[in-house]
Amino acid sequence: MRAEVLIVGAGISGLLVSYLLAREGVDVVQVDSSPGPGRRPHCSGILGMDCWRLLPFRSDGWRLNNIREATFISPKGSSKTIRGDIALVVDRERMEEDLVSEVLSEGVKLSFGSKFIGVSGRKALIKTQSGRTDVGFFIAIGADGSRSKVAHSTLGGYLPLDFGVNMAVRSRTGERYIVRLRRGSYFSWVHPRGDITYVGAVGPTPELAVEWARKEASVVGGEIIKTMCHPIPASIRSRFSSKNIAVLGDAAGQVKPLSRGGVFFSLIAAMNLSREVVRSLEGDHIDLTTYDRRWWKTLGGEVRLGYAVRSFLDNSSEEKIERMFSLVNIESFSELFNTDKQVISLLRSVSPDKLFLEVISSPSAAAKSAAKFLIPWLDVKG
Ligand SMILES: Cc1cc2nc3c(=O)[nH]c(=O)nc-3n(C[C@H](O)[C@H](O)[C@H](O)COP(=O)(O)OP(=O)(O)OC[C@H]3O[C@@H](n4cnc5c(N)ncnc54)[C@H](O)[C@@H]3O)c2cc1C
Repeated sequence: MRAEVLIVGAGISGLLVSYLLAREGVDVVQVDSSPGPGRRPHCSGILGMDCWRLLPFRSDGWRLNNIREATFISPKGSSKTIRGDIALVVDRERMEEDLVSEVLSEGVKLSFGSKFIGVSGRKALIKTQSGRTDVGFFIAIGADGSRSKVAHSTLGGYLPLDFGVNMAVRSRTGERYIVRLRRGSYFSWVHPRGDITYVGAVGPTPELAVEWARKEASVVGGEIIKTMCHPIPASIRSRFSSKNIAVLGDAAGQVKPLSRGGVFFSLIAAMNLSREVVRSLEGDHIDLTTYDRRWWKTLGGEVRLGYAVRSFLDNSSEEKIERMFSLVNIESFSELFNTDKQVISLLRSVSPDKLFLEVISSPSAAAKSAAKFLIPWLDVKG
């Protein structure tokens, strides 16, 4: 089999890029090792309003809840509440199922139960239920998640991982999102999901994430219907492409540094990458590196500042985090908060001179670890 573009993975990032390419008339073969579409119930499905508006294909049928209130709770129990059009909770399984129908109707040759094994030159080895097959390509795209084989075989290494847990709880908690800081930058949450509630957490190990999620479940009350755990990339790749192969989404570590949400960053990647793929196929020279540059130009500030804040939190005591928490001006935060550019909106809600004094009075490990992410020529890869 041959294709102009082979896409490995049909999660949200693979589906977004295949949809955008197919709409431009590109010949796409897409493979996914899972048995079928819509298998992402672990995801909270929280999307910022920018992300929602930028989606190239969307349906109001995916919208489950409008989050109009969010409460942030510090490790010592103080809280700050913001209000406004904060985010949507969408049905991620339905979103992916509908995108699968769309890409199929746009002509993508998509097959589930087909696993990418490796690459040799311009051929990929794919294992299907009936045996092994070669797929020839001009360009290959890895959207195969946080343990990406495509990234490992072309860019090298695996990304370090954190773990996210969601528990579906039979209980109604209103349209409010609650975030509780647990340790450093790790946190737990409660949010509505249609008629039920999701409680969850992100932690350095699955055990700790489950323990924090259980604590939230005991506060909410109600029967736990299902517990879902999934890895989350703990750092971002410094390069997303090499010659004619590129990666995006969790495979590239493209998740927000603080909330660890991945859909918005994957969408920006799919938009930039599809543009570069079309340009390369129309010209006589394949070069996907402009995709990297454009992605970093759009999101680099948010990512570098985000890693600096995260690293600072991860190296600070509870007392220090409490003091930093108290610096956030709730009126400005409520006015400026943007789920998709959360770090920049958070930092703009803090008085710069007070923030500076807190940072310079911090233990040198915290200040140094944060500073390294702000020096542009240093690699942000962990
Ligand atoms: C608990 C939790 C809550 C979250 N909440 C949010 C949220 O509210 N908002 C948000 O924006 N993000 C959230 N995220 C993150 C978001 O779910 C991910 O960033 C996003 O789903 C990543 O999509 P992806 O397509 O890059 O990877 P994946 O969804 O992991 O898809 C990768 C696909 O590749 C396939 N694959 C893997 N290996 C191979 C192979 N060798 N050959 C063929 N196919 C392969 C897999 O079967 C899979 O279908 C959450 C994550 C977790 C864990």
